[in-house]
Amino acid sequence: MVVILENKATEEQIKNVKQHLEDFGFQIHESAGVQRTILGAIGVKPGFDIRKVKILEGVADVYRVTSPFKLASRNFKEEKTIVKIKDVEIGGDHIGVMAGPCSVESEEQIFKLAAIVKESGSKILRGGAFKPRSSPYSFQGLGEDGLKMMRKAADEYGLLVITEVMQIDQIELIAKYTDIFQLGARNMQNFSLLKELSKSDIPVMVKRGLSATIEEWLMSGEYILAGGNKNVILCERGIRTFEPYTRNTFDLSAIPVVHNRSHLPVVADPSHATGLRDQVPPMARAAVAAGADALMIEIHHDPENALSDGPQALLPETFLNLMSELKEIARAIRKTI
Ligand code: PEP
Ligand code: MN
Repeated sequence: MVVILENKATEEQIKNVKQHLEDFGFQIHESAGVQRTILGAIGVKPGFDIRKVKILEGVADVYRVTSPFKLASRNFKEEKTIVKIKDVEIGGDHIGVMAGPCSVESEEQIFKLAAIVKESGSKILRGGAFKPRSSPYSFQGLGEDGLKMMRKAADEYGLLVITEVMQIDQIELIAKYTDIFQLGARNMQNFSLLKELSKSDIPVMVKRGLSATIEEWLMSGEYILAGGNKNVILCERGIRTFEPYTRNTFDLSAIPVVHNRSHLPVVADPSHATGLRDQVPPMARAAVAAGADALMIEIHHDPENALSDGPQALLPETFLNLMSELKEIARAIRKTI
């Protein structure tokens, strides 16, 4: 249930409404917007008469939310969420770019790529130190050594770090090195991991599961919001379909659909969505045009010898050219990149 308070509702009235909701047994989440305060009341019981809330002083409107996600919904929070991390904002008019290798492979490699990320004007360095690989024989990541290398490279070039956390017992360690947790597609419905991440104040980027509906994906974001972490970013990274010519099918329409239903920012990852280098620039351009709040792009200076996802990594030069094209597209929709 969403309770919208009147613009002129006094502190006293708001307190009173909250007290009533608590007495009715609801868990309350407050969204204090510029114009008005909105309360999300979780735990509505079947048969609860919402008029009991409607008649309280200071209440402008009350309605049940039919979608299963509440805190992630636009009804609960009308203004878009802007996730702020140091001097970087995701969700506003500036499109952020997270770029870097699939995996951190060596200090030399991550420093080389961090320099390219910096040169491109992007502010966030990506790279995996704990890798979810389909085969147990594939490179699994450098672990803490990789985190150290990435943090050092990011600090050298004044960049933020985003890296994947695969399991609960890695949270504490990764928190020491990262600015954003990446929750991988394969873990989107790892509910115990979601619950633990919800207790952190480090932003979490939730990648869409391999065959997750948009609603299931939003519910994963809801888990993190419900636990108290308001810094949630979503990432469309392609879904599995019957089409073999691409690694995944990039669901571009998910961007406007999510923006319509949720206040959370959406990142597009054309690298994992297509799996092939030549398809990445067109889809990156399309994602910016479709309103993506940020992009995640894999790059590598020597993709032939990359330890993971080489075929989808852009060469530094291609990436830099793409960035200047994206600036033009962003300008057309009154954004910057
Ligand atoms: C990655 O970003 O390298 C990755 C493994 O992504 P996903 O979880 O989307 O497959
Ligand atoms: Mn990858």
